[in-house]
Amino acid sequence: MSYRIWRISHLLTYLVFPITLIHTIKIGTYFSSIFISTYIYVIFSLFILIVLYKFLHFASILGNRYVITKIEDINSEIYLVHLKPTIKKIKIKGGQFIQLRLNPFGESHPFSVLDFDETTGEIALGIKKVGKFTNQLKQLKEGSFVNIDVGYGVFTKEAYNTQNKRIVLVAGGIGITPFISYLKYISQAHNNYEEVFLFFANRNLSSISFMEYLNSLSIPNLKVVFCFSDEENDHPYEKGRVNVILMNKYLSYSTSNYQYYICGPEGMMNSLAKDLELNGVDKANIFKEEFGW
Ligand SMILES: Cc1cc2nc3c(=O)[nH]c(=O)nc-3n(C[C@H](O)[C@H](O)[C@H](O)COP(=O)(O)OP(=O)(O)OC[C@H]3O[C@@H](n4cnc5c(N)ncnc54)[C@H](O)[C@@H]3O)c2cc1C
Repeated sequence: MSYRIWRISHLLTYLVFPITLIHTIKIGTYFSSIFISTYIYVIFSLFILIVLYKFLHFASILGNRYVITKIEDINSEIYLVHLKPTIKKIKIKGGQFIQLRLNPFGESHPFSVLDFDETTGEIALGIKKVGKFTNQLKQLKEGSFVNIDVGYGVFTKEAYNTQNKRIVLVAGGIGITPFISYLKYISQAHNNYEEVFLFFANRNLSSISFMEYLNSLSIPNLKVVFCFSDEENDHPYEKGRVNVILMNKYLSYSTSNYQYYICGPEGMMNSLAKDLELNGVDKANIFKEEFGW
């Protein structure tokens, strides 16, 4: 089901409760009991408050107003958006995502926070143009206002707290974004890991993002492996897809001794997770971040 049909069908569910209530008041028999009628009115009042709260968010009256300070191209498909809070600074944990709305009553889309400045509250997002919303955002001018709801989920939460000191990150294309903030975190002296690997899969050299940044990181126990599935020119990197055979060329221990964090296209995530499980990795040590539904 497309996201837009999914969204409309979910919004329609808000009508179910008031219709049921009207039906109950008009022809139901429960209202003869004071207890049941009080109970129903309390639930209905809570429902109204929730709808009001959602409406104020939807209208961008609640939520957080940010201004776009810069939009810069990384390549023909991927760009960076820099956002600055106008009123309130919001705290975001590494690996979290925000919900971004471009206009009041417009759609709200999720994006992982690439970078967050604790002092100024500024946020950077790395975005791939895939459809209407991501193309509209690219057209906005510096100085435009957007609305943000923060900060949801922490895909790499277990990696921040892990007792398992051997970590394997696998990114496909724009799926690199949640790992950028994680790598920044461990580069700032929060690094008690024995080994950290990043396998970064892309189609070709012209579609990759953040390669320079990843090469510039000086994290002693980090090994970044670039992997290209369709690059026609000669290159010194890995060729083909990321799988357990490729990983075993680099990992010091057998595959079951690591925790895995995978973010990328659904097909890649599912086939890699299956491959890992077949090679003895416990399901509980495989974490995936879906970028769509
Ligand atoms: C937790 C999370 C983090 C994400 N982080 C990033 C990121 O850092 N950078 C990035 O480029 N993309 C990220 N995405 C994906 C991004 O939200 C979609 O690419 C974007 O919403 C597509 O909208 P569109 O109108 O441009 O394209 P469309 O053509 O409308 O959508 C393309 C695909 O994106 C998915 N999608 C569309 N709308 C939504 C929505 N509102 N919520 C969830 N999925 C949607 C659907 O699977 C759809 O098939 C993330 C998604 C999730 C769920």
